[in-house]
Amino acid sequence: MTSPDYSKGVACVRGQYVPIAEASIPITDWGFLRSDATYDVVTVWDGAFFRMDAHLERFLLSCKRWRLDPGLNAEQIAQTLTQCVRLSGLRASYVEMICTRGQPPWGSRDPRLAVNQFYAFAVPYVWLANEAQRANGLHLCISDVQRIPSASVDPRAKNYHWNDLTMGLLGALDAGADSVVLVDAQGNVVEGPGFNVFCVRQGAVVTPAQGMLEGISRRTVIEMAQSLRLEVQVRALPADELRSADEVFLSTSGGGVLPVTVVDGAAIGDGKPGAITRRLVETYWAWHRDPALNRAIDYT
Ligand SMILES: *Cc1c(COP(=O)(O)O)cnc(C)c1O
Repeated sequence: MTSPDYSKGVACVRGQYVPIAEASIPITDWGFLRSDATYDVVTVWDGAFFRMDAHLERFLLSCKRWRLDPGLNAEQIAQTLTQCVRLSGLRASYVEMICTRGQPPWGSRDPRLAVNQFYAFAVPYVWLANEAQRANGLHLCISDVQRIPSASVDPRAKNYHWNDLTMGLLGALDAGADSVVLVDAQGNVVEGPGFNVFCVRQGAVVTPAQGMLEGISRRTVIEMAQSLRLEVQVRALPADELRSADEVFLSTSGGGVLPVTVVDGAAIGDGKPGAITRRLVETYWAWHRDPALNRAIDYT
């Protein structure tokens, strides 16, 4: 028997570690049938988890919000994620933890009776922008698809209610753009598929206050801006303010700070990644060497 190939990634499914290609969930899990699940993504860079505690805290809050019980505490989840990464040997990894509703006893539709399930996996680091896009900036569309209202699905608890984001993204890709941001009922931009949005106007860094997931990368950007003594405005961001901004960028665990140089077909500033954006990109990666924010993995 040859030993399993963990090099493409490792998943933990119901307590068993398996190569990512072999990981599966039962078709009757409501995580699949109802999008009834929550998740979080933490990254590993240079062999260390970045802001692990913040991701664990948010994951457990998301679980509580959706009345899901992962059956593990923060330290047990951390151990499971660490084991996934350790087995894979990946030094740069995208690490996801998931709690699904599971399934109630046959015939019952009472979510309270479902046995919730915990899953996790580690795969190679995922970039939301390729190298050329990171160098030259992304082309972004502002969709007319409205993000699901906060009163219907709390956007602060991570969820898989992504049809609005996916339809918006398909529209943007059809139009030749790289990605998309959605708006709320008032026409303010809120967020895109897996990222928060920022702009720079007259030297101030602006990001929406409501209607979106409060990204850990968004928090990092706000803290970096404060440490660089930049003004930060957390407030409603009308679509036109994004279009006429001096700089635009995205924040996500899938690549950190990502420059945007075109919005709805028109160049932002001089059409190159802005000076403040570039400083924030540099600072984002510099903070990956700060022991206070990073938890080194023992691969032995
Ligand atoms: C995860 C996510 C983000 C970004 O959060 P980070 O913690 O910065 O990775 C933004 N919007 C949505 C809808 C998300 O699911």
